[in-house]
Amino acid sequence: MEQELRQLESEAAEKLSSLKTLQDLEDVRIRYLGRKGLFTGLLRQLGSVSPEERPRLGKVANQIKEGLEKKFHARKAELAAAAETGPGSDDLSLPGRVIPAGRIHPVSQIMDEVCSIFVDLGFAVAEGPDVELDYYNFEALNIPQHHPARDMHDTFYISDSILLRTHTSPMQIRAMEMAKPPLRIIAPGKVYRCDSDITHTPMFHQVEGFLVDTKVSFADLKGVLTVFCQKMFDQKDIGLRFRPSFFPFTEPSAEVDIGCVICRGEGCRVCKQTGWLEILGAGMIDPEVLKMVDYDPEEFSGFAFGLGIERIAMLKYGIDDIRLFYENDLRFLNQF
Ligand SMILES: [Zn+2]
Repeated sequence: MEQELRQLESEAAEKLSSLKTLQDLEDVRIRYLGRKGLFTGLLRQLGSVSPEERPRLGKVANQIKEGLEKKFHARKAELAAAAETGPGSDDLSLPGRVIPAGRIHPVSQIMDEVCSIFVDLGFAVAEGPDVELDYYNFEALNIPQHHPARDMHDTFYISDSILLRTHTSPMQIRAMEMAKPPLRIIAPGKVYRCDSDITHTPMFHQVEGFLVDTKVSFADLKGVLTVFCQKMFDQKDIGLRFRPSFFPFTEPSAEVDIGCVICRGEGCRVCKQTGWLEILGAGMIDPEVLKMVDYDPEEFSGFAFGLGIERIAMLKYGIDDIRLFYENDLRFLNQF
């Protein structure tokens, strides 16, 4: 049997050195080393060899196999190199090789765009932890234990007091704890909610923004948001509509709509024929929240707003399923 093994070895080696193409190489590999190859077939017969002979023959067989595999790889590299530089490779009439280029994910693009608009308006960018204390995510934002607003958040809890932040608002508290007004800050980042359908994913991106100073009014909030929407959607005459709403950490609170950027107010599928699109939530920071960080509500006031990055991307590009952003389908991602 040893003789048969040796013979196969020299036969294969000879074929390897004389073949010329990668295809031939693959054929030879399959013929000798493939799962149903000659060499493999011989190895199967090891079982019928006498028990004394078996260990030695097994060792020889393995050495031969390893040697052949090495030769095979070396030859493959040689042939591949030859194909790169050999005759035909300098044919100038052939189209150039395409080098695939990566690009920035649409969500990151929108995030960068949002941040740069606010930076131009004098806001500083602050980032905070995704894993947050209940205190910052709820308590300090005027959402105490058992407050019904907690139910709307579908929170992922890690323990009783630690959770994945459900919004970027905790950064308001963290930033205010660290500094005295005037403050102009935006806090972009990931947030998490136990929710999943065509308009919700368990993880999504928000940008929180707030401004605290003396004599800040709702008019300032309207001004800042108007400039933002004009720039974001590249529409100088974009309409803005503030609808009264409720958030525990702002008073008064508003949901903000923009005139539909798709139909420009005429009514379409995206705006459900209303001509308006809900874009963000905002309001004047509740005096209770200011008290939590030892600001005097008699002296200081401020506004805050929060917007969803995916939501803006969907409106801007007319995308109707949020999950497309996270399926990593290159046919989708290549369009941005
Ligand atoms: Zn519309």
